[in-house]
Amino acid sequence: MFRERIWLSVLFVFLVLIFIGNSQAIAAQAPELKFDHNHTFQEVADYLNGMVKAYPKLARLRTIGKSYLDKDLLVIVISNQDTGKCKEKPGYWFDGNLHASEVMGAEVCLHTIHTLLTQYGKDPAITNLVDTRTIYIMPKLNPDGSDHYLTKPDSMRSSVRPHDSDRDGLLDEDPPEDLDGNGYLTRMRVKDVTGPWKTSPDDPRLLVRREEEEKGEWQVYPEGIDNDKDGRYNEDGVGGLDINRNWPSRWHQEYLQRGSGRYPLSEPETRAVAEFLLSHTNVTGVVNHHMSGNFLYIPPTNKNFNPITGEETEMHREDAAYFDIFGQKYSEIINEQPVRKVLGRDAPPRLGAIWGVMIGWAYDHYGVYSYVPEMGSLAPFCDYDNDKRASQEEMLRWNDEELGGKIFMDWKSYDHPQLGKVEIGGFVRKVYNPKFKSYTSLMCYPSPEFEDFLAKHTKWNLYLAAQSPLVRITEVKIHKGDAGYVKIAASIQNQGFLPTNVTQQAIKNQTAKTVKVLISLTGAEMVLGKEKVDLGHLRGHTSLNPSPVQKVEWMVKTTGKGTPTATIKVVSEKAGTHSKELKLTAK
Ligand SMILES: [Zn+2]
Repeated sequence: MFRERIWLSVLFVFLVLIFIGNSQAIAAQAPELKFDHNHTFQEVADYLNGMVKAYPKLARLRTIGKSYLDKDLLVIVISNQDTGKCKEKPGYWFDGNLHASEVMGAEVCLHTIHTLLTQYGKDPAITNLVDTRTIYIMPKLNPDGSDHYLTKPDSMRSSVRPHDSDRDGLLDEDPPEDLDGNGYLTRMRVKDVTGPWKTSPDDPRLLVRREEEEKGEWQVYPEGIDNDKDGRYNEDGVGGLDINRNWPSRWHQEYLQRGSGRYPLSEPETRAVAEFLLSHTNVTGVVNHHMSGNFLYIPPTNKNFNPITGEETEMHREDAAYFDIFGQKYSEIINEQPVRKVLGRDAPPRLGAIWGVMIGWAYDHYGVYSYVPEMGSLAPFCDYDNDKRASQEEMLRWNDEELGGKIFMDWKSYDHPQLGKVEIGGFVRKVYNPKFKSYTSLMCYPSPEFEDFLAKHTKWNLYLAAQSPLVRITEVKIHKGDAGYVKIAASIQNQGFLPTNVTQQAIKNQTAKTVKVLISLTGAEMVLGKEKVDLGHLRGHTSLNPSPVQKVEWMVKTTGKGTPTATIKVVSEKAGTHSKELKLTAK
């Protein structure tokens, strides 16, 4: 009896072990991803963790640092780990939500991640991309700021670090207040014959600017109290740095560039990203997603000057040509609007021009093509007259006919401690959703139009990543002579669209590394040729204009010890690594 029980227990433990073994063999289910609201940092972190569990061979999650409020700075690294090391493949960088309120960047990043991982093995182009490239995606570059925007009524430029936005010596002392307690920060209007606003003749809820000769009707303020009693309302709320002015290229102090920070990369978020990119030099391009009027910014982000002569310098013609090609593709895929080449290029260096920008650094110093898609527009949702813009009249119609009054707060009177009788009301820019306990930006309003927009951005992102250079050993021939002499000839080609140096800027900066071919021998010794051959930079490839095939030859002699073998390896910092091993005994 006792022995039987022992045997039964052993059998039971054995069955349990088999069960556990099997359940581990089944990969976790990919988490669901719905664009029915804007995702907070925690939701993004949960999603990323779920995806790396579901696709352990294709995706890894890296924490590259901590935000100002100690949140993890998360980057998902997507590449098939069976086809080579991540750093030995051409890489591409995508991020979102550097600016707190520009939440669509995170949504596009999530869409791109979901597409890459769920379509692997189904879509041949995506499968090839994940096999041959490494995609780095950071949906929340600035998790503190974006969570603030998504969970609190106020808006914010970027980071939450206290900042003296009105330069009065005090930090964050005049934030907005939700005076009527409706969860929104709208506007206050006060009767004033000298005010610049009058009631719209089309709809009494709307305000329009009066003509100069007309009598005024309203003065308008943002909702809140003038806490520091300087006559201005809400001009120094939480934060105020602009971490897209904190990058080393053409950085300037706050007196010339607002929000730039105490010194370049002073903020933990910008520092972590720069350090990551500088230690992942396989990255060939940077897309820093923002949200505004549905166009594309490309460098230079301001005029460039020769640091010694002070002369203005132009972008290299070849780089400008590639920027044009990629920009045209953006317009073709996403909208028909022209690409806005530069912010401030034609403007004189002045207050208001932009300095210390991420994509400026990515091109000027890091030496890759870089872009800011300024995504989003309300036009797709309420452009009733098809003029490609959303007027306040159209927004109001959208509010009344489709949104059940969610985005326009009717004017209600309020006794203001400083202004007396006011009315509070107007449009909101984000809508609170109690189910998710967060706000959703109007520009990301859940709809088929929004999902279509995300899909188009993902398409452009994947197109860009597929244009990186890619070196391959296309052929190796051996010719056996007498007395153990073997001639080896390898053909090497850049099969990617971009040159192996990526930009001419990287050559100018002396950061571009040349392509090297290495040979290692066992059971044979070198007679003629070098163990390391420098091929220089290989130009970009198209089927109509192929990149020239580079030939490298060696003469070796077998030693008679072991199987004579040669391993040929081509190594490029930005175009990947490819190797071939061959037995020298074969014909
Ligand atoms: Zn922005």
